[in-house]
Amino acid sequence: MNASKPIVAVGSIAVDWLELPDGTEGETVGGSLTYFTRAAGILAPVRLVGVIGTDFPKEGMEILNQYASSLEDLQIQEGESFRWGGRYHDDWEDRTTLYTELGVFESFSPKLSDANRQSPFLYLGNIHPALQLDVLSQMTPEGAVVVCDTMNLWINTTREQLRKVLERIDILLLNESEAELLAGTEGVSKAAELIRSMGPEHIVVKEGAAGSTLFSPDGGFHVDAYPIKRLADPTGAGDSFAGGFMAAVSQDRSYEEGLIWGTATASFCVEGFGLEGLERMTEKSFGDRVAVLTERRELP
Ligand code: AMP
Repeated sequence: MNASKPIVAVGSIAVDWLELPDGTEGETVGGSLTYFTRAAGILAPVRLVGVIGTDFPKEGMEILNQYASSLEDLQIQEGESFRWGGRYHDDWEDRTTLYTELGVFESFSPKLSDANRQSPFLYLGNIHPALQLDVLSQMTPEGAVVVCDTMNLWINTTREQLRKVLERIDILLLNESEAELLAGTEGVSKAAELIRSMGPEHIVVKEGAAGSTLFSPDGGFHVDAYPIKRLADPTGAGDSFAGGFMAAVSQDRSYEEGLIWGTATASFCVEGFGLEGLERMTEKSFGDRVAVLTERRELP
């Protein structure tokens, strides 16, 4: 590994049901925090804050054990784990939520250990903004660098709480349609500027196959997507991107490297069903993809 400082990360740990346009379907371990941890875990120490039910599959537990550096704040509660079902549309981007069953997530009350409260980096994965605020309020006052992800559901249903989160974070990651929805305007650059006025200094807009763009006070830049061989399942791409991005940031690398690392980790994720794509991500294969992306940016 490296000189990474610890990243405390909160998000969902789930059992997913996925239906893809090519007819592939099935149950798999998922959740925003699981993808994040699987992607970031070989690059940086990830300290989990989350909850699972007593029904959580053994293979999921093995992933958390292997890729998280601390499970101190992982709660295991009597009852069912969070379950989410999604069906992708023919464009492989839009998706319909088939069901969301909160299970033990419904009564989840995160309690951060002293070590986690003092972490210099905090990732607020996609969960209810009230839980994101709860975790934020437990961090020591000196303040960590906070990176946050969200989704349409929260923008539509809990806008006020989300606005409170935005006031307290440094970097927001979201996709194009979410940016436009949150800002209430069309056009990604205009939306990003408006969102920056709500709190976060930097916005990273994820544009799927078109890559990702950073919007910062001094401008920004775009990084193309990695040319994958075959798109198998887009689930978790955003969380995996966040994992690579934060791993770079936690090593004091530039935001440009952050976008490149995020792009590389997300590219592994979408090449397999559920978490299978990330199985092919090793330090070596990750490094190879980062080199390709870096070389492309250096070309005139
Ligand atoms: P992504 O494709 O990056 O948006 O992440 C997909 C993951 O988010 C899936 O594994 C789901 O379990 C999880 N997820 C979906 N909806 C929610 C929700 N409302 N709250 C928390 N996690 C969710």
